[in-house]
Amino acid sequence: MTIAIIGAGPAGIEAAAILAGKHQVTLFEREDKPLCNLRNKAFLFPDFSSADVLADQLEAKLSHGNITLKVATPVVSMQRTGEQWMLTTASGETAAFDKVLLATGYRVFDAHKKEELGYGIYKGVITSIEMEEMIKDNQVRNNMGEVPKQVVFLQCVGSRDEKSGNHYCSKVCCVTAVKQAIEIKRLHPETDVYIYYMDLRMWGQGFEEMYREAQEKYGVNFVRGRISEAASTFDNRVQIKAEDTLMGIPLTMNADLLVLMVGMCASEGTASLAQCAGIDGLYRFAQSLSPHMEDNLTAQPGLYLAGSCKRPMCITDTVQDARAAAVAIGNE
Ligand code: SF4
Repeated sequence: MTIAIIGAGPAGIEAAAILAGKHQVTLFEREDKPLCNLRNKAFLFPDFSSADVLADQLEAKLSHGNITLKVATPVVSMQRTGEQWMLTTASGETAAFDKVLLATGYRVFDAHKKEELGYGIYKGVITSIEMEEMIKDNQVRNNMGEVPKQVVFLQCVGSRDEKSGNHYCSKVCCVTAVKQAIEIKRLHPETDVYIYYMDLRMWGQGFEEMYREAQEKYGVNFVRGRISEAASTFDNRVQIKAEDTLMGIPLTMNADLLVLMVGMCASEGTASLAQCAGIDGLYRFAQSLSPHMEDNLTAQPGLYLAGSCKRPMCITDTVQDARAAAVAIGNE
């Protein structure tokens, strides 16, 4: 059986490694290397293990003789022809496969769309992706190159948000903010860290413990409230206007960095290929047959799904889901 897997992230690679035991697998990746999202991370929740170590483990699986990796090769369309799927790449190449696994993952919400928060306007306003890069470099700095005195995180940017049109919860950003807050305190204990949240969704094993540790051991401040507006101060800091919804009072505070916890959205590849194959679902994610027993199957024969092309998903769940997809494909 010939299998095409679209997307060389954790889901695509894990499924490829399993399926390569018995089948020929071609793995298409639009970027010029695999695992780009994972490689941009420093440490993983909840155990603060190295993202690079996991990425190395996954990448080692690509050396299997039955896997052909094609990087910088976006698949732009797919069509059912007879018993096979015909894929077309951006350069116009076509190839037919017996089965296709969509593992096209996610992109993060574009913070420019929240103009009132000043991303792209004020230098002190950054996203959680940029904060992760600083943590990976072992130094968190404000826009003047100094250790920040105050860092403020804002949850739910582009998620659970009427205005941006994304009503869903992105699932991973609460715990990511707590993780990053702890990492900042470990690097710079003198920095004050605040997290503004609507409600904290610490749903996974070990997450609640991280939340407690953030407060009790590291002194991270949690404020239930929304930030309505950010502006620049004369000394290049960020002024934040917010409401403390527990106390019912408006607040104003200055910070060196405002970190926007950007949510997960369907990647361009996910949205366009799901639409092309007629399996597009809510918010442009790909739609499985059923979230319970048929979550790797689609309404199209021979077309399967794995990972965050379906909905926001953490890496642990993504890898498990990829294994389930491989079983579903292998059993057909
Ligand atoms: S995980 Fe937390 S920050 Fe992310 S969308 Fe859900 S509630 Fe908001």
